[in-house]
This record gives sequence, structure tokens and C-alpha cells, in this order.
Amino acid sequence: MPRVFNFSAGPATLPEPVLRQAATEMLDWHGSGMSVMEMSHRGKEFIAIHAQAEGLLRELLAIPQNYKVLFLQGGAIGQNAIVPMNLLRGKTTADYISTGDWSKKSIKEAKAYCTVNVAASSEGSKFTSIPPQSEWKLNPDAAYVHICSNETIGGVEYHWTPDTGGVPLVADMSSNILSKPIDVSKYGLIYAGAQKNMGPSGLTVVIVREDLLGGALPITPSAFDYKQQAENDSMLNTPPTYAIYILGLVCQWVKDQGGLEAMAKHNQAKAAILYDYLDASSFYSSPVAPADRSLMNIPFKLKDESLDDAFLKGAQALGMVQLKGHRSVGGMRASIYNAMPVEGVLALVAYMQDFEKKHS
Ligand SMILES: *Cc1c(COP(=O)(O)O)cnc(C)c1O
Repeated sequence: MPRVFNFSAGPATLPEPVLRQAATEMLDWHGSGMSVMEMSHRGKEFIAIHAQAEGLLRELLAIPQNYKVLFLQGGAIGQNAIVPMNLLRGKTTADYISTGDWSKKSIKEAKAYCTVNVAASSEGSKFTSIPPQSEWKLNPDAAYVHICSNETIGGVEYHWTPDTGGVPLVADMSSNILSKPIDVSKYGLIYAGAQKNMGPSGLTVVIVREDLLGGALPITPSAFDYKQQAENDSMLNTPPTYAIYILGLVCQWVKDQGGLEAMAKHNQAKAAILYDYLDASSFYSSPVAPADRSLMNIPFKLKDESLDDAFLKGAQALGMVQLKGHRSVGGMRASIYNAMPVEGVLALVAYMQDFEKKHS
């Protein structure tokens, strides 16, 4: 069976060279006589793999020296609780910007730990846009301001960085980290599950400014206390070793593609192919405001919903899978992360044109 074009939102498609290298190294990593999966996390081989992965991630994102990179478990959903546990630092309220399903989940979870001020929301327009910062009602006493930089389900993305003054900006970047250059110094903390754009599930990356460490609530589990994890090189508990190894290979692949500037160009070009077609067609439509459209997750609808099943079946038969939209929004969704080649998007649009001709 040839490899399919996998449009899954996550776990998602990975670069084929990464999978091939992992396969080659599966039984014997670099003459160690072991698989990476079998290595002690404290042995010199894995310490080197860990350091290499962190080094490449730091290089790609140009992470400043005063930020720690943590490799944790528990996913981005875990971070929804772990962030307030660690970042309230004696304060009682935090600001949240509500732009879709994922920010709503973050808000719900944070309410167990603090007073949540929803400083802006696009729920009124069914989460099809990002509220401009001029509409945000920020509280200067908030412990932090939380955003979801790319709403994986709704397909809206920030193409600008909010300015929160002295209040730390926290971003759930699960579905657009490594898709473009970012200025890490504008953020207090960034978190992301690896399984969208960085590797396999089971690894959560946290990038946190050092001065925010050390104020965790007493109830915080040690494994989720950023300071304790930072002091132990993320090895207070056994880290997800194999996922960290794959993250390192993915980072090397991104670097080989030319780094994040090149990745951003590639991603813009891919997304434009699909959006241009959607906008030109009266058979399909994109619900999202053009200025806020995600380059990673592209939801779209068929005018005639009764054709949805036929559309999905036909795509599957051509080796294009996981195009069904999230159950909360319906329709279709094409997730086109870094590892989706332009050929995948071209094949999808060719199929969409063909399907449109046959059914209109
Ligand atoms: C996938 C996703 C999550 C959930 O991540 P888990 O690893 O399942 O906890 C959270 N936020 C965003 C933006 C996501 O895309």
C-alpha cells in the first residue's frame, strides 16, 4: 500500500524521511545495540539525543537563553490545568481570549484554579475570526493572558502577536508551532502537544521564561511543577524518550528544509492553493474570515451537505484520508501541517474540482 495523503488534525502526518530514519535506527541506534525506546533516560546515549532535540528546537525558534524548554507529558489539555497551577504566583485572576473549542477548554479547566476573565470572545460570530486587540478588555492585575494561537477545530489563527504589556502572554501553540518564525521573547510561556507538527503524541513541549518559575500552588504535582522539572532537565520523572527522539529528527528535517522562514513560505503557498479554490467555487465554502484563516487547519463545507459522505468516500478511494470535519462544526477539514507536501494539496484540489463537476 503506498502512503496516503493524511489530512488528520492530530496525531498527524510526519515527514517521510523522519519515519525512514527512525525505521533504519529502530534496532540499533548509532551502534549502541539498542533501540532508543530501550535506553535508560539517564544514559549517555539518551542524554545526547535529548540535548540534540532541545538544541535544534532552540535554534529553530531562536529561543532566548532566559527561557527553559521542558519536555513533559499530559498533553496540551494537561497544560490547561498546569499553567494556572504554576503561573498564578499569588494572583487570583487570569485573562483568556476565547476564539474556539480549544480556548473554551482552556477556560473551563482554569476555572478550577482561578477567576477567569474572558477578555474577548468571538463566540458571537461562531468563532470565525480573532477579536482584534482593540476590543480586548484586559485586566492589568491578571496573572497572565492566555490565547490559543491556532484553533485546530475552527481554523482561525493569529497572524499577529498580542501586546499584553507587563502581563505574561501564554499561548497554546499545539497546532501551529514550527509552522513559521515567532518572537519567543513576546511570550511568557508557550505550550504545545507534539502530535500536530512536531512528532508523536505523548510529548508536551513547554517553553517558559525563567522569572515565571517557582510560584506553583502547593497542590501542584511535582511532575507538573515547572521549576522542579526545569531543575531536573525534565527528568524528575521518566520523560517520553522515544517521542523526544522523533522531535529531534523532525526539527532536523525542518532545518534541512531551510528553517522556519522557509517553512512559512511553503505553508503559505500550500494554504493559498486550497483557499483560492474555495473562494472561487460556489460549490464549496470556507466559513472563516479571510484575515484570520489558519494555514494549518482548513475547514470547508459543501453547499449540499447530503454529498458529504460521497465526497469522503471518493477521497478515501484516492488515498486522501481524515478529511471529515470535527463533529462540532461538521463539513470537511484539511489539516496541512509542515509535513503535508504540496502534492497532497494539489491532489485534494484536483479531486474537489472533479467532484464539483460531477455533482453540479
Ligand atoms: C490537539 C490540541 C489540544 C489537545 O492536545 P492533547 O495532547 O490531546 O492534550 C489542545 N489544544 C490545541 C490547540 C490542539 O490542537
